[in-house]
Amino acid sequence: MRRREFLTTAAAASFAALWTPTRVWGGQDSEKARLLRAIDEGLPMAINPKNVVVVGAGMAGLVAGHLLKKAGHNVTILEASRRVGGRVWTLREPFTHGLYAEGGAMRIPDAHKLTWRFIDKFGLETQRFIMERTSQLLYVNKQRMTWQEFERNPKIEGFTLKPNERGKTPRTLWNETVAPLKEQFESGSWEEILNEWGDSTVRQFLQKMGWSENAITLYGIVENQRARLNHSATALLWEVLSGSFQDLYEIKGGADRLPWSFYSELAENITFDAKMTEIRQNATSVDITFKSSLDREKEVTADYAIVAIPFPMLRHVEGIRDFTPAHWNAITGLNYDQSGKILLQCRERFWENEGILGGGSESDLGIRSTWYPQHADDFRGRGKRGVLLVSYTWARDARRWSHLSVGDQVQQATEDLEVLHPQLKGKDLIEGGTSVMWGDMENFGGGFALFNPGQESRYYNVIRQPAGRIQFAGEHTSLDHRWIEGAVESAVRTALEIPA
Ligand SMILES: Cc1cc2nc3c(=O)[nH]c(=O)nc-3n(C[C@H](O)[C@H](O)[C@H](O)COP(=O)(O)OP(=O)(O)OC[C@H]3O[C@@H](n4cnc5c(N)ncnc54)[C@H](O)[C@@H]3O)c2cc1C
Repeated sequence: MRRREFLTTAAAASFAALWTPTRVWGGQDSEKARLLRAIDEGLPMAINPKNVVVVGAGMAGLVAGHLLKKAGHNVTILEASRRVGGRVWTLREPFTHGLYAEGGAMRIPDAHKLTWRFIDKFGLETQRFIMERTSQLLYVNKQRMTWQEFERNPKIEGFTLKPNERGKTPRTLWNETVAPLKEQFESGSWEEILNEWGDSTVRQFLQKMGWSENAITLYGIVENQRARLNHSATALLWEVLSGSFQDLYEIKGGADRLPWSFYSELAENITFDAKMTEIRQNATSVDITFKSSLDREKEVTADYAIVAIPFPMLRHVEGIRDFTPAHWNAITGLNYDQSGKILLQCRERFWENEGILGGGSESDLGIRSTWYPQHADDFRGRGKRGVLLVSYTWARDARRWSHLSVGDQVQQATEDLEVLHPQLKGKDLIEGGTSVMWGDMENFGGGFALFNPGQESRYYNVIRQPAGRIQFAGEHTSLDHRWIEGAVESAVRTALEIPA
């Protein structure tokens, strides 16, 4: 079923516990409308076509390249690796033929209109990404239960809560806490929320809202936010209030179908194995030096550049000191979150025997968040095998894995999985696995940008300013950090800045 059919037939009732933003928010709605128009109608056709170098062939680079080429500009895309998509990366190896799993992006919220424009444009098939919690599991303080059981009786031994917190799940408590902010957000008052909470961590926000320490800890575990309690409250509030965790979908056949849809049209414009090492500009042009893995150096000169690579990578490029001091501070200061995924190939989709068809389990084990593939349909006809996202972690929880070898990660994660699913013990159903730790990955250096308290006010506007003829794109230049939407938004915004 395609997304719109689902929305019209099934309605949003099943997501009643989550927020439903009824409109695009405040001042942002006109900006979104401007960007959607540019996607639908194209950029103004080039009267005097420009030579534009786009650095990075992730979603931001691809979208910028696509729009500029269609408008008649001469586009060169430099990509350090040998594939397009960047953090949209479907792993088809080392799994048995036909099995796959997402190393990066896996779900797309209905609210992310810019991303959907391209999914629809390329006619990609989608299906719901299951977020409902039913037969999946919760394991906290050695207590194991299904989500249904927890929701019926939200009590975990060892967590004494205040009277007003008892009998409520952390999600219910959270929804009650942010209800007034939701109204503020929808009336277009993001600035007010930012002024009030922009310097606070998530923990401070919850403390000021009257939460007990036990309620905060439980929320951290159950909602997989533990490692983020010391990051910016407003980064989390923006995500939740703008509907990023509501009505989610996945691309059938793998998320990489989206970036690869741009490839056929841009193939001749992309140079792979081309890592930018230096960027300089003068009054009339930009010079970029790039290197291949064989250390061969080349140069390209253009009228404008759109730099769509993560800041941990840009940090090492020569010439960035000549941008403004404010740019330098932002490039070197913006916080990036570690993010890790450990994936196991299983001989049998054992979870289906427990009535689990998609969705996620949460635990206080090292693996933290476990997600079951609901694209198991794609795997049928290939026996009973499946690939399980055994561990999805962020920040500190992810860093606790990244110092282990991949073999040790797989072994350790399997041990945790046997605690979560004890029936696995002695069955030998795991056929190996792999992991992606984005903070340690060449060409990335982080999972995604995530503001520390105060960073949105300090850096956000600077990051979006060009430095002369150089524009900055990528998820980190948007408030939709850690979503494809942020990358797409930044690409359309910067492509619109290139003079026709
Ligand atoms: C674990 C994880 C899960 C995620 N889950 C979701 C999700 O479910 N839904 C969602 O919408 N989003 C998700 N995201 C976020 C989403 O993947 C990103 O926001 C988005 O893909 C970023 O695109 P980008 O173009 O900004 O950057 P990237 O994808 O990082 O692209 C940058 C490109 O630049 C290249 N590059 C780097 N340095 C250089 C250089 N010096 N010279 C030339 N090229 C260079 C890189 O190889 C890369 O191809 C997730 C991300 C991660 C890490």
